Amino acid sequence: MTTYHTHTYRCRHATGDAMDYLKTARKASIRELGFSDHCPYPDRRWSESRMDMDELPAYIHAVDAAREEAKGFDEPMQVFAGLECEWGPDIHGYLKDELLGHFALDYLGVGIHTYLHRGSWRDSFVITDPRELASFADTTAKALESGIFAFLAHPDLFCYNWAPWDENAIACAKDILEAAQATKVPLEINGCGFRKPKVRGDRGQRRPYPHEYFWDLACEYDILCVVNSDAHRPVDIIAGIEEGKAMGSTRGLKILEKLDLTSKPR
Ligand SMILES: [Zn+2]
Ligand SMILES: [Zn+2]
Repeated sequence: MTTYHTHTYRCRHATGDAMDYLKTARKASIRELGFSDHCPYPDRRWSESRMDMDELPAYIHAVDAAREEAKGFDEPMQVFAGLECEWGPDIHGYLKDELLGHFALDYLGVGIHTYLHRGSWRDSFVITDPRELASFADTTAKALESGIFAFLAHPDLFCYNWAPWDENAIACAKDILEAAQATKVPLEINGCGFRKPKVRGDRGQRRPYPHEYFWDLACEYDILCVVNSDAHRPVDIIAGIEEGKAMGSTRGLKILEKLDLTSKPR
């Protein structure tokens, strides 16, 4: 088993540090463990849910220490240092040159928690207008096309506040799936979604994500998938992974056992 979406206490809404996750990952016989805490920005953008820039070296150091520790394990475990980023044209250079370049991170994941709508940032959790859905899809597609990301976290996040699976949701999903097919960036079936409180759907309560209908539609595309726990507590290191794999395999989706993190920058 592998997981590439792991947080630490530094994002201010998770608990535990790299070594704590390493311990639970070892117990769960994880073969590859990727850390992807929420990415800091030099202008302290969205700082309430992420580390500050000056915490980044200590984060990388903590992951390096976990990697060293894992070298002594009887069963080999690979440990990678990454970050979960937003994407926009004004931060692209920073992600590529500073994070992948200067800080030499092993990979970046992208999670569109905020998207660009008419030149300003909007919260993906409260989409209420079809034009906003289109902007979410647009930001997502451009992020995939940017060529710097190893996977797209929770591609179906746009459904969080969008109850009906209607023509607008389907159009948004198709735009994302087409971009994933063209760029071959793996889409994540997010294990954390199985643990989140239910939200409003068109047939009563449903999971916020992974969204059944999104992944039904995904089968019609030649895309790659990855299943991650998105752990925010060490105890959740493999939570939701089996459920996510079952969701993907019953639909015949191509689930990668491992991400190729050797050929960076992407
Ligand atoms: Zn988080
Ligand atoms: Zn995350």
